[in-house]
Amino acid sequence: MADNLRSFWEGGISIDTIEKNQVVAFSYLVTDETGAEVEKCSVEDPMVYLHGHANILPALERALAGKSVGEEISTTLAPEQAYGFRRDDGIQRVPIKHLVNPAKRLKPGMLAKVNTRDGMRDVTIIKVGKFNVDVDTNHPFAGKTLTFNITVQNVREPTSDELTHRHAHGVSGDAHH
Ligand code: ZN
Repeated sequence: MADNLRSFWEGGISIDTIEKNQVVAFSYLVTDETGAEVEKCSVEDPMVYLHGHANILPALERALAGKSVGEEISTTLAPEQAYGFRRDDGIQRVPIKHLVNPAKRLKPGMLAKVNTRDGMRDVTIIKVGKFNVDVDTNHPFAGKTLTFNITVQNVREPTSDELTHRHAHGVSGDAHH
């Protein structure tokens, strides 16, 4: 095991700051305009990404650049910096057979995946018929102004595989995918 990994697993604190090609682990809590929690990622199961490759929102990458382990960041992103605006033409009727592993009893509000020509897409079911469902293809966070409260948990050097793939392979770099 490489030294940088050992220090992480043994609870050591790296003094690296976040820059291009480093693998960053962070925990976060996201709230919307009303202060309601919309998403979180715990210290035990942090978000891990390779910095500088647009694997997370560009505005978040900018906020994280130059930070180091233990630093806390709070940044508020308008829809155009986050998940965009809602599109009215995002509502579509699709055959139920195009859903990927649909639940037995589909209900409005459920999240589902649809096979499209461009690959799998996350949607929200808004109406259920006998053979078709109406789905909202907008990102669930579209149109929201979001506040990200982030704590940097770890910064390490990438493995050669991670550099080649241009994404992180988990906290320690050996996750398979
Ligand atoms: Zn990979």
